[in-house]
Amino acid sequence: MKPFQPEEVIVEQGSEASPIYRNLRRTLPDVPFRFVGEVSRRVGDGSSMTDPFGAAKKKLYLAKHKGEFFKKCPGSDGQVCCNYFVINFASNCPMDCSYCYLQEYLADNSELKVFSNVGDLIAEADQVLRKHRGMFFRVGTGEITDSLALEPFTGMVGELMPYFVEQPNVLLELKTKSDCVASLLDFDPKGRVVVSWSMNPQAVIDWDEADTASFSERLSAARRCQEAGYRLGFHFDPMIEYPGWEIDYRAMIEEVFATIDWKRLSWLSLGVLRNTPGLKRAMRERFPGTQLLTGEQVLCPDGKLRYFQPLRVEMYRKMVGWIRRAAPTVKIYLCMESKEVWQQVFGYAPACEKDLGNEMAPGAESAWL
Ligand code: SF4
Repeated sequence: MKPFQPEEVIVEQGSEASPIYRNLRRTLPDVPFRFVGEVSRRVGDGSSMTDPFGAAKKKLYLAKHKGEFFKKCPGSDGQVCCNYFVINFASNCPMDCSYCYLQEYLADNSELKVFSNVGDLIAEADQVLRKHRGMFFRVGTGEITDSLALEPFTGMVGELMPYFVEQPNVLLELKTKSDCVASLLDFDPKGRVVVSWSMNPQAVIDWDEADTASFSERLSAARRCQEAGYRLGFHFDPMIEYPGWEIDYRAMIEEVFATIDWKRLSWLSLGVLRNTPGLKRAMRERFPGTQLLTGEQVLCPDGKLRYFQPLRVEMYRKMVGWIRRAAPTVKIYLCMESKEVWQQVFGYAPACEKDLGNEMAPGAESAWL
């Protein structure tokens, strides 16, 4: 993976006292730093740029986060929810997948930003986790950024780990398409951290996941994390249907399970390509050659476009079959799918989001179908 290096770091007044600022200064000695009063919401005026979203990925902002850090994952209307919480410690991503929903979600707020007030983040998480000790939290950091792509410079995860590994009612998920795991290997995760990878066959990575780590780099990073004691997860998401997809996806599954000890996997998720009309417009402008705009998709009740339901069910069933052959009892869930689809794929659907959330807790080793 070609290491990301920002062209410039722009520091909002007041962020110089942050440990993240100290880390950036140490790890980016040759990159110019600029100091500003307050970070504006737009990068440039957009008029002279052919690709303002792409341009925003090249400069790194360090600024204070003014809203809440800890939120319930919004999920998707009418789809089975996996009771997931998110902590947003950064916004936007230095990598550039053609299908990335951030192109629409962050269109008006696209600066690549990392938040400097780590102390506020930990204080807020602590308040929630202490107040609900009887509840188990799966917390992800990869909703509006990649959890690890900026780690070699920001050291953000390194700042958070000492707190999260000591909490009895949380699993922190670090979700990535990078191979930036070097700093994690120095920590004892104490069973509280899952490092997970979004996986696709190399052909899909070449077509639609620009600047990400290759399939083998991701797998090798996963293996290093497993050897260092981390729990692992894999998200085969978004699965893409194309001529010959079965051959590539089956080979990918076989390679993953030949490399990883599946008995120490925390979970696997499956999801197909999801789009919205707005995202398709952004993709057409930024990635006019992508094949993802040509396949047939139908509008679902949550406003998202997906493959026709029978095709989705067929894809999931095939994937579950290949996975089960290698890893008979590993936990598998579907991401943003309806109860009907769950029912057809697994023969049951979680009765409520609590059921699914509890299945993900450490020690809940019951086999999923
Ligand atoms: S790695 Fe994730 S966040 Fe980054 S561009 Fe790709 S889909 Fe978007």
